Amino acid sequence: MEVLRNDRTRDGFNRLHGKYLKRCLEVLPHSLATLDVSRLTIAFFAISGLDLLDCLHLIEPQKRDIIEWIYSLQILVTKNNESGGHCGRHGFRGSAANGMDNPYDCGNLAMTYCALSSLLILGDDLKRVDKKKIIDGLKEHQLSDGSFVPVVYEKENDMRFVYCATTVSYILNDWSAIDRQKIVSFIRNSFTYECGFGQSPGLESHGGSTYCALAALTLMGELSQLSDKQLSSLKRWCLFRQTNGFQGRPNKDADTCYSFWLGGALKLINGYHLVNTELNTSFILDTQDMITGGLAKYPDSIPDPMHTYLGLSGLALNSINNCLLTVNPALNISERAVKHLIQLHSQWNDN
Ligand SMILES: [Zn+2]
Repeated sequence: MEVLRNDRTRDGFNRLHGKYLKRCLEVLPHSLATLDVSRLTIAFFAISGLDLLDCLHLIEPQKRDIIEWIYSLQILVTKNNESGGHCGRHGFRGSAANGMDNPYDCGNLAMTYCALSSLLILGDDLKRVDKKKIIDGLKEHQLSDGSFVPVVYEKENDMRFVYCATTVSYILNDWSAIDRQKIVSFIRNSFTYECGFGQSPGLESHGGSTYCALAALTLMGELSQLSDKQLSSLKRWCLFRQTNGFQGRPNKDADTCYSFWLGGALKLINGYHLVNTELNTSFILDTQDMITGGLAKYPDSIPDPMHTYLGLSGLALNSINNCLLTVNPALNISERAVKHLIQLHSQWNDN
């Protein structure tokens, strides 16, 4: 299906949403003020969205400043200012909004994932990332059941942070600090009677946690830990989430972000060809704001950076939508950025 609507050209589609995402890097409405502490996630949605739209040239003049800003959020704990004596504080903070260098100024796994992905997309060589400390710090984020907490003093462990820990290990090409077998058993224990994955064992199946579980297994090279029967019932559960777009759980309304979470999950288990892409594309395009640009959670509602990005990456799973770069379903960044990562890995291996 043709991705564009209302006689807009491919350039018009890319320019409309490119301008929206560029604006997200500059100024945000007060309705998003609560996201100030996790501003790095908004930056990731904007930067990766601009990449998928092949519009990174729109931020070329600001690129160096954005890279410097991301590095300013890296927490480099030295012996003199280390508080609590553990290395789990290493990583990236979401912004400077909560103050810096206080005992609660800790690296957050989700922010570290967003920082590393954004740096890669911007073409950075990750030379200033303190890889060893971040990897060593992952040890303190992993719990005895195999799951991870986002920051060392919190108890919010679930599948989202399992995904973040595996992406950080994959990007930094170092799996030495985490217990992969424990991760595999946490994921297997979170498989539900409905035949999707929950956020933790005993919880209901959910589109987001199903994506995180399958992407983490893929990045670890452990997808074969699932039986053929589990894979085929997973495909069925994911496919049954499609109404026109995708819903996250049974009996919920379709929501733009699940076009990526469930579409990406289906890509990882070779089930995407069974998606009705025409209906899904139509749903996503109905959530566009044709004046301001951006995509919303539902049609006729207000766009936000997360749904704009995940709507675009949901469209980018379908190779027919040629106004977008191809997205890597496990890392959720463009294949172009993944190619840059593979080049960095081979340079690190040579040194
Ligand atoms: Zn959503």
